[in-house]
Amino acid sequence: MSERHAARTATAPTPAAPTAPAGPPADALADALSAAIAAAGGCRTCGACCAYAADWPRFSLESEAALAAIPPELVAADGAGMRCIGDRCAALSGEVGVATACTIHPVRPEVCRACEPGDPECGLARARFGL
Ligand code: SF4
Ligand code: SF4
Repeated sequence: MSERHAARTATAPTPAAPTAPAGPPADALADALSAAIAAAGGCRTCGACCAYAADWPRFSLESEAALAAIPPELVAADGAGMRCIGDRCAALSGEVGVATACTIHPVRPEVCRACEPGDPECGLARARFGL
């Protein structure tokens, strides 16, 4: 069972919820998007979240050692996150929606590790690129 599913099943339902939301539950939509992304080749055929906004690949909980492992030429001038070219992270290679890769994948920031296919942020980024 994945951490995502473990977290979901650990949440007890509210016994007296007055109204049910219209449409499928958010978790079902996330799972459907995740499955569709996997069927399309996964993150390697996407890269949208790495090219969505210059203020997305920001540093947060990284240790000094983790930050030191990121090539300095790929760090923003203010040191607060990854350097971006427009909205696109400078560490991203390839063409969004076709074939992409993170050139610093083993040492990428925490925010990048936290982003999962099917998450709301993932859906937002993919929609920007018509994916
Ligand atoms: S937007 Fe979603 S599918 Fe695309 S690279 Fe990011 S996490 Fe992966
Ligand atoms: S560091 Fe890698 S995973 Fe993070 S935004 Fe840049 S290209 Fe994407």
